[in-house]
Amino acid sequence: MAALLDPLGRRLEYLRVSVVDSCNLRCFYCRPGESCKPREAQTVLSRDKIVQAVRGAADVGIRKVRLTGGEPLLRSDIVGLTAQIAAIPGIEDLSLTTNGTRLAQLAAPLAEAGLKRVNISLDSLDGRNFREITRGGRLKATLAGIEAAFVAGLLPVKINMVVMKGVNDHEVINFARLTLDRDIHIRFIEYMPMLGQEETWQRHYLPSSEIMSLCSTVAPLVGLTGDNFYGPARNFCFEDATGRLGFITPVSQHFCAQCNRLRLTSNGRLKPCLFSDVEVDLLPALQKGENIQLLYHEAARLKPAFSETSPAALGASCGPRGMVEIGG
Ligand code: SAM
Repeated sequence: MAALLDPLGRRLEYLRVSVVDSCNLRCFYCRPGESCKPREAQTVLSRDKIVQAVRGAADVGIRKVRLTGGEPLLRSDIVGLTAQIAAIPGIEDLSLTTNGTRLAQLAAPLAEAGLKRVNISLDSLDGRNFREITRGGRLKATLAGIEAAFVAGLLPVKINMVVMKGVNDHEVINFARLTLDRDIHIRFIEYMPMLGQEETWQRHYLPSSEIMSLCSTVAPLVGLTGDNFYGPARNFCFEDATGRLGFITPVSQHFCAQCNRLRLTSNGRLKPCLFSDVEVDLLPALQKGENIQLLYHEAARLKPAFSETSPAALGASCGPRGMVEIGG
């Protein structure tokens, strides 16, 4: 099978699939400007079309798939969809990103269906702060989801924290301490300036270097060597600790040169780059049952070396879309 290579020779092996565009949380930095009314769900690909799209991806060399959203666990057929994707020959790694609120019920059936691991988004360990950031969410539901992920063996359990100055940076140390005696991976993510967030971003952006300094007050950080197949985090641990700390730096030190991803939006568009408007529409071919391999090659051909609209390129002004639309 020919590998999916882009013009820079980057081997594209990773597809992030947004399976729904609605979410039951309304994090202020992810869905800026939205009222507290839940968004209406828009047309999303059926289960069969998603499976067809992932089969086509596996045929061109995609080995790793992550299901995301919106909130992927809002799909009533998420367990069946997971089982079908897990059974596709060539897909070696199937993971999911979730806010965890429905994981207490779904972790076991998802693991049984073939899901390997989860990333759970959690920006605060304080119930009140969590409610404010998510505009109404319940911390207890996400914490129960995290425990269920451990019990179901969806390991390693990774927690994604978007660190924002004046919002949750005072909690960085508490998150870091969780790794001392538990095999949990805490990933500190730089806040990216997506659509409509210029002012909020200016106020709350905190570079990874400062997040690392905060972590170093717990204990010295020991560097771990990484593997790009598993993502762009720079990984560390505290000496003798059980868990890990990862730092993801899309703004202060972008990782475009190592990017091995394509994204599929919930309405069937392939996006070669998170920060570019360029899309390749898979839907018409999926509807006609046509071969989609060429469309994957077209998306690879269109993958920019370095997006001119990435936060780093713009001196961190603003990407073209909101994250909830694309699936992080
Ligand atoms: N609902 C799922 C969840 O909560 O994980 C999946 C979708 S959510 C869009 C995926 C990830 O994107 C979350 O970890 C979220 O914190 C992150 N995210 C959203 N907006 C972001 C931004 N402006 N900068 C950095 N990360 C962001």
